[in-house]
Amino acid sequence: MPEGDAVWRTAQRLAKALDGQTLVHTDFRVPQHATADLSGGTVVETVSRGKHLLTRIDGGPDADTRWTLHTHLKMEGSWRVYRRGERWTKAGSLARVVLDVGLRSAVGFQLGIVELLPREREDDVVGHLGPDLLGPDWDEEEAVRRLTADPARPLGEALLDQRNLAGIGTIYRTELCFLTGYDPRSPVGVVADPLRMVRLAHRMLLQNRQLPQICTTGDKRRGHSLWIYGRGTERCLRCGTPVERGELGEQRRVAYWCPSCQPPR
Ligand SMILES: [Zn+2]
Repeated sequence: MPEGDAVWRTAQRLAKALDGQTLVHTDFRVPQHATADLSGGTVVETVSRGKHLLTRIDGGPDADTRWTLHTHLKMEGSWRVYRRGERWTKAGSLARVVLDVGLRSAVGFQLGIVELLPREREDDVVGHLGPDLLGPDWDEEEAVRRLTADPARPLGEALLDQRNLAGIGTIYRTELCFLTGYDPRSPVGVVADPLRMVRLAHRMLLQNRQLPQICTTGDKRRGHSLWIYGRGTERCLRCGTPVERGELGEQRRVAYWCPSCQPPR
């Protein structure tokens, strides 16, 4: 699943292709919006909120309505931009949304959420999110408050909960726990300096938002860019202890940890 920085880059790409453009054709290939048509509307902007994308569109056939197209990539989704006449790089049957502005079209494939709503209802879909690590209103104090609100909760689960911090996925939570020396199964309450952890998360996403692949080690070579994520059958880069792999929380999302560098507490 893409992390917050990848979603941020997607928003930048969509903004570059669509902002200020008039839609000449739209196609919503999801049952609930199959008859929607926003052609004639103007794309105002696309912004990311955590791992959610909001594409704001004014007008269309119903000239007075200000719309927001809410999309989420979930596990497999992606947005691609094509020049006019360019062949799509994924099967048409996987397309869920097409926004055509003439010279270019943006195609959303395998999106986990496609939802068209009046702009004033945006809060219904993103209002629950915690401070957005890459958002204009990033608030580290509020992020700490939310992250530590339930001290008994396993750290790995609390870090992944988008109501605490918006933008962290399984890679960042694994690397954050490693770099701060905590077992992801330990309760949040044992973290001695949660502000340091939140600041590290913020710095990681900021440093990575322009990179195509996440790098937390400073070494971008293939197989060297992450400390511990994906090393389920290997030894810890730092101490040589075999890395452990497990699944955390109700959603059983993957986690890795080094039993020496991250002793249980
Ligand atoms: Zn280690």
